[in-house]
Amino acid sequence: MDYSTRNIDDAFFEASKMVNLVSKSDDEINQEERTWIAQSTYDNFKNHINKGFLEYRKSVTETEGIALTDWSGQGSILKDVLGREFIDMLGGFGLYSPGIRHPKIVAAAQAQLERSPQYSQEMLDPLRAHLAKVIAKLTPGDIQYGFFANSGTEAVDGAMKLAKMYTGKNGFISTIRAFHGKSLGALSLMGKAVYREPVGRLLDGVRHVPFGDADAVEEQIKSAIEVGDGIAAVIAEPIQGEAGAIVPPDDYWPKLRKICDKYGVLLIADEVQTGFGRTGTLFGVDHWNVAPDIMCFGKALGGGVIAMSGFFASAKIWKVLELNPFMHTTTTGGNPIACAAALAQISVLLEEDLAGQAKEKGAYIQSKLAEIQKQYPDVLSDVTGKGLLLGMVFTDDETGFEVVSGLFKRGILISGTLNNSRVVRIEPALNIPYELIDKFLVELKDVIKNI
Ligand SMILES: *Cc1c(COP(=O)(O)O)cnc(C)c1O
Repeated sequence: MDYSTRNIDDAFFEASKMVNLVSKSDDEINQEERTWIAQSTYDNFKNHINKGFLEYRKSVTETEGIALTDWSGQGSILKDVLGREFIDMLGGFGLYSPGIRHPKIVAAAQAQLERSPQYSQEMLDPLRAHLAKVIAKLTPGDIQYGFFANSGTEAVDGAMKLAKMYTGKNGFISTIRAFHGKSLGALSLMGKAVYREPVGRLLDGVRHVPFGDADAVEEQIKSAIEVGDGIAAVIAEPIQGEAGAIVPPDDYWPKLRKICDKYGVLLIADEVQTGFGRTGTLFGVDHWNVAPDIMCFGKALGGGVIAMSGFFASAKIWKVLELNPFMHTTTTGGNPIACAAALAQISVLLEEDLAGQAKEKGAYIQSKLAEIQKQYPDVLSDVTGKGLLLGMVFTDDETGFEVVSGLFKRGILISGTLNNSRVVRIEPALNIPYELIDKFLVELKDVIKNI
């Protein structure tokens, strides 16, 4: 083999160098090494990841000197490689619901790593099966069976495939500004042109209706039937996350349930962001006592420790996967470390009443934001969301950006929403201490005052 066009020695040297660094304890890494990590990360992003990010990330554009470089964290505090500290009001877009490195979740994942990090792919895997049982007990209605994967978009793709197989129909009804992931299946459901158009043709038969409008869903189902397009499922987020923490009218989900039953269409709740306590109830649909046919999970499922996702449905629906169980598989999804982390995440969720904390802390933040809004209505025009999936709606994009940038410079990490740039999300760990919330609120008020 002729490897002369490659740089094998360098690859070995560079790989070993970083392995040595990450294997050191944090106080063994000296300043010179830290600076090297930060500087080479910037260069590696430029040369090997995507230059475009360097123009967007506040860690680069809003930081004096060396770009902020992710390194460590605990609870609701993030620390960059050079030791700069931030209060995490972003929660990794909802993945850090139990906080960063929750000790019980880390311990479970670590213990499983020591025993067996992956499955043989042949023997029956105990943690996967146990986790499915636990989630079946936790979810509404007759949800019983589940499939685990690594990312939210995979969970949504799986749910779509299941709905198509079960109903024998191809169409989906999604919502405007919806976010369900970016792989080709889930992207077809995306409710925002900017992410769809450049990709060209996506899955056929997806119709988008305004979020919160159940009558529009029924109209579309009727029109699809009229012209012979079958609809497999209606899919929506219980509370739209990336659209700006949008809460639908109270009768929306109950109406969707009725409409789906009336026309024999499945109802899929994408709980990737709203699941596991985020909005103040165990799942988003629990606000309206609705039992969907299929539920998708992700983000917080792995406890902020590991990538983990899944989709679940009733025994009746799951039957279509039983004839040939190889119809839907993944080699790494639902691996033992991920399942151990997810089981620990669920026990922390229940033990610490994370849903209750989200509800109480969300209401507290909302009441404080209402005061700020009253005082500065020409800056903060609305507050959206439930629990700790909240959105601050600013009068325009620039104001929103100024607030985010001002907070960032004051050591608070916060971010906009993907499909609505006027809305800045508040999505911290559900067990964030009140002291940190108050610190955030003081800084927020100060930033807004200065605008
Ligand atoms: C984040 C998200 C996804 C996609 O999850 P990934 O892990 O990023 O693929 C899907 N649906 C919703 C509602 C999300 O918030």
